[in-house]
Amino acid sequence: MLDQIKKLEEESRKLEPSPLQRNAWNTRVQQYADDFLDGIYDKKAFNTSDDYGAPLLHLQIGEEPKALEVLLPLLQANVDGVGLNPAASGHFGYVPGGGVFPAALGDYLAAVSNRYAGIFFGSPGAVRLENQLIRWMCNLIGYPEGSLGNLASGGSIANLIAITTARDFKKIQSKDVENAVIYLTHQVHHCVQKALRIAGLREAQIHYVPMDAHFRMDAKALEAMVKVDLQNGLKPFLIVASAGTTDTGAIDPLNEIADIAEKYGLWFHVDAAYGGFFLLVDDLKHKFKGIERSDSLAIDPHKGLFLPYGIGAILVKNVEATFQSHHYVANYMQDALKLADELSPADLSPELTKHFRGLRMWLPLHLLGLKPFKAALEEKIWLCRYFYEKVQELGFEVGPYPDLSIMIYRYVPKDNDSNEFNEKLVEYVQHDGRVFLSSTMIDGIFWIRLAVLCFRSHLREVDLCLEILKDGITHLQKQTQMNKTPAT
Ligand SMILES: *Cc1c(COP(=O)(O)O)cnc(C)c1O
Repeated sequence: MLDQIKKLEEESRKLEPSPLQRNAWNTRVQQYADDFLDGIYDKKAFNTSDDYGAPLLHLQIGEEPKALEVLLPLLQANVDGVGLNPAASGHFGYVPGGGVFPAALGDYLAAVSNRYAGIFFGSPGAVRLENQLIRWMCNLIGYPEGSLGNLASGGSIANLIAITTARDFKKIQSKDVENAVIYLTHQVHHCVQKALRIAGLREAQIHYVPMDAHFRMDAKALEAMVKVDLQNGLKPFLIVASAGTTDTGAIDPLNEIADIAEKYGLWFHVDAAYGGFFLLVDDLKHKFKGIERSDSLAIDPHKGLFLPYGIGAILVKNVEATFQSHHYVANYMQDALKLADELSPADLSPELTKHFRGLRMWLPLHLLGLKPFKAALEEKIWLCRYFYEKVQELGFEVGPYPDLSIMIYRYVPKDNDSNEFNEKLVEYVQHDGRVFLSSTMIDGIFWIRLAVLCFRSHLREVDLCLEILKDGITHLQKQTQMNKTPAT
């Protein structure tokens, strides 16, 4: 038996690289990261490809080790070189994220030390660090002391935690689901509908509230709907409003919605996944009036704080309610219950074991200080306003004046189908690849979006985007002209 154990030990010790080996790997990986970052401002935001990274499928996981010299080029060619490049300065599609460098160092340290950040007993320091970040965000929103929440993997899970909490706190049991009413607009992010389904509310009444011309929830219509629903014996219990919608960046009239939620005793949840961190900009605070009156809020540091993908947050005032929906006491956890200075993330989330994701937020915020974050957020607002003017000079029709840093626009050619023309224009821009734009469909109209939130996007990139759009129009117009010219 001892022989067997020793033999296995010899092989299993290879999981612990020598300092020399570690150093060699570190150097190679760092070199790769440096190459990636040094040229980042010249990298395309979108790369078309014939095989979509398919060569990756040929690499088998084998018994024997492979070298970084084999693996890194494979990554470079098939992962980093294909499709959307969210790190690129020209990324203006969807809701751009970030990837400020110190966050990568935070992830590295979190992975090396592998702190157990799910339970206070296991890593009081890690939990304190995360809870402090959550309290900082609560303070930003204007939530009272005692509020808390959870660092989740993103806005989708954050919204799910809020919806689950609201469901339980408002005592919606399975027998009540059919009569339970939830109020949304058609501009709410689709992850909310997804969360409702996951939370067992598929058969609930989802009532869509009309919007004004700015795609904001019509609060008067909301109140009228609540009244009718109450008269009909239904049970309204939840309003989900947006502070920065994905399509147009619109902020719902939060203060008026808060009045209605209060008056009728409904849970008021705000999805601020995209827009929340604009509260760091003093001049924008007034747009969010009433946000502090919500019961819960989702906010995405991997959007507005320019962190890499994988960190969103749910903030709640009634922490006890979230705890009641999410905690669990298992026999094998009995040692962990003795210490409880801080609530454990595992008690406020579906997750137990989790990545120590607070470190990737804590390190950049302290290392860089808040100033550049605030400046970058304000800059994105102005870049969007600048684009709003300039794109009209190119002959584009625009949607509503942007509340934040997202806007919609489209070209209306004289005698062509506008939807088809704009779809082709987006394809032209994606094929060019230096900037990336995405589009949306609102009431049957095809709109191109501009979402300025990548921390690397500055004036140069916005001007480049305008230039590419201009070239695209010329190109498409020439093409239609050619198609029209009768063959001689
Ligand atoms: C991005 C986004 C979400 C979804 O968040 P993920 O982090 O992608 O899971 C939800 N709501 C809004 C408004 C968003 O912009």
